[in-house]
Amino acid sequence: MKNILFYFILLTLFLTNCSTRQEINKQCSPNVLLVTIDTLRADRVGYISGSAVSKTPNIDLLASKGVVFKRAYSAVPLTLPSHSSIFTGLHPLQLGIHQNVPVTLSPDIPTFTTILRKKGYQTIAAISAEVLSSKTGINQGFIEYDDPYKIYNSHKKGGRIAEKTISAALKLLKKQDENKPVFLWVHLYDPHDPYTPPKGYRQEGDSLYDAEVRYTDDCVGRLIKSWKKFCGDKNNLIVITADHGEGLGEHGEKFHGHFLFDTTLHVPLIITGNKIPSAVRDDIVCLYDICPTILKYCDAKNENETESPAIDLLSKNKREVPVTSETEYPETLNMNISRGYAIHLGDEKLICQPKPEKFNLLNDPKELRPVFTNTTVLKNLLYETVKELREAHPKQNLMDSETISMITSLGYLGSMAPEKITADSPVFPHPNWKSPMQAINFINQAERMFRLPEDSDERLAMMENCYKIDPENKFVIKGLGSLLCKRGKYAEAVKLFDKINPESVWMAKIFYDMTLSYAKQGRKSNAFVCAELAVKRCPGMPLAYQAMAIANLVKGKFETAKSNAWIAVSISPDNKSSWNNFGLINNVMKNYGEAYKAFSASMALTDTNDQKSVMKFGRTCMFMKKYDEAEWAFKKAIELNPNNEKA
Ligand SMILES: [Zn+2]
Repeated sequence: MKNILFYFILLTLFLTNCSTRQEINKQCSPNVLLVTIDTLRADRVGYISGSAVSKTPNIDLLASKGVVFKRAYSAVPLTLPSHSSIFTGLHPLQLGIHQNVPVTLSPDIPTFTTILRKKGYQTIAAISAEVLSSKTGINQGFIEYDDPYKIYNSHKKGGRIAEKTISAALKLLKKQDENKPVFLWVHLYDPHDPYTPPKGYRQEGDSLYDAEVRYTDDCVGRLIKSWKKFCGDKNNLIVITADHGEGLGEHGEKFHGHFLFDTTLHVPLIITGNKIPSAVRDDIVCLYDICPTILKYCDAKNENETESPAIDLLSKNKREVPVTSETEYPETLNMNISRGYAIHLGDEKLICQPKPEKFNLLNDPKELRPVFTNTTVLKNLLYETVKELREAHPKQNLMDSETISMITSLGYLGSMAPEKITADSPVFPHPNWKSPMQAINFINQAERMFRLPEDSDERLAMMENCYKIDPENKFVIKGLGSLLCKRGKYAEAVKLFDKINPESVWMAKIFYDMTLSYAKQGRKSNAFVCAELAVKRCPGMPLAYQAMAIANLVKGKFETAKSNAWIAVSISPDNKSSWNNFGLINNVMKNYGEAYKAFSASMALTDTNDQKSVMKFGRTCMFMKKYDEAEWAFKKAIELNPNNEKA
């Protein structure tokens, strides 16, 4: 009887708190929406900057109803590392993820998604960029993950535009059971370069970047409306943030990842939810605070020993813990540029890259006037924190080569294998490497170069100039070697390629140029080493098999070369160079019929024929004694380039 009474009391208590199963969900498991807007600077959000004409009315409206953190910082200004810290609550130094390639988030480290899923959440995501594809491990815990890897189709390089991602997200949302809690993550990529806003969003005085921000805000407004409709009166939590900001020329920095100024570290963070009173907070928080905070709000136990405890959203207690940020990415660019670390504490900030520079953000928010006095205390704190965080470094998981190759081919330059780091590793292994101010010119030149066509004389001149300034710079050596190869200057190219270890290369394009240059200089074994690495590291790239075909051709292994060349064609039948490569090898083998077909296929791929394919086609016709067609081809080649003496 006593027992029955006990259970009766328990049941009554239970029913008072949560009268039905639905009620339990309402009380204890709110629906959660996380929106991460790639590359959105905090100062572009009207509610944070206080600017009279806001570019973000929809985000502002939400902000006015929740908690707004005016001083939220990213732990690392790069997409995958920053998102990894958001999802795990761990610092990128603890995770060992410093750039978008080649390390993935280890499945051994729980994310808040995996924890919510265990709690019965329906976990769904729609993301916008290749660098967060399911191949990176950031998808762990999601039941459904809509990523561009599968549906890559957009004018936005490496990603898709917001309205498409949001449509995908809402489609997933519609499929969910309304009686079970939902966690939806939406990642939007529009403010990331290249800045290509849809028409009608650029207002007077706006940069293209600003117009992307307006467009994204518009889409966020639509997303929030649909989300609220889905949630109805159910408890729900909305978190809006950005993975990092963007350098818009300040400190000489364009884009992000190279340095640690607030232009790329300062991000918006807005949290709204039932029972969360509206507040504007000016204490320092970091993106890794999001994980414990969401878990606490959802009454779920955090399984990671995170960098910091949950933010108390109900109290006004300030979170006066320093925030440490890092960028190890510059070192992987092979430009002799040092990694950087920074620490925010109160109004003070110290950046070491490697020279220490202290700023007072209250007097100098733009970080224009470094204070060189009393840097020791902050510096010691920063060095100790970095060392401590690294001690927790787990085993690193490498991405598959195809993904690395795909990401690097999109223009993400970081491409060096991760350094083995132990607790005893020095914080700055190369103290004499360039500091940011010296490095800016180099990076800007490099980035401008990448926007010029490969055969432009300006690009070659810029690269030669960089080489003169820094002849040991591996990035420049690879780039210049490649440009010389493109111009048929193989002897000069090989002299440069001899200075780099092929093991430090990850891009199929560089492997191909190295293979071709070595092959042309009769250095068969060097050519073969590069081609073998190309296939191993970039198995999804036609250029890797084209390289292998050349390496086998110079070795006299004609049949193998032919089948290598055919793999390149099969991977991507709309790739001109693969058909040309296949035709060339057939010509050498005197399979003129197949060569004829290959060059015809190559010419059919473009409306205006390029002279390379036309010349090759002409030569094959000569071998086949099809003189009329050969004449047509050479005439066409002259038409395309009147200076073509060979034609
Ligand atoms: Zn990003």
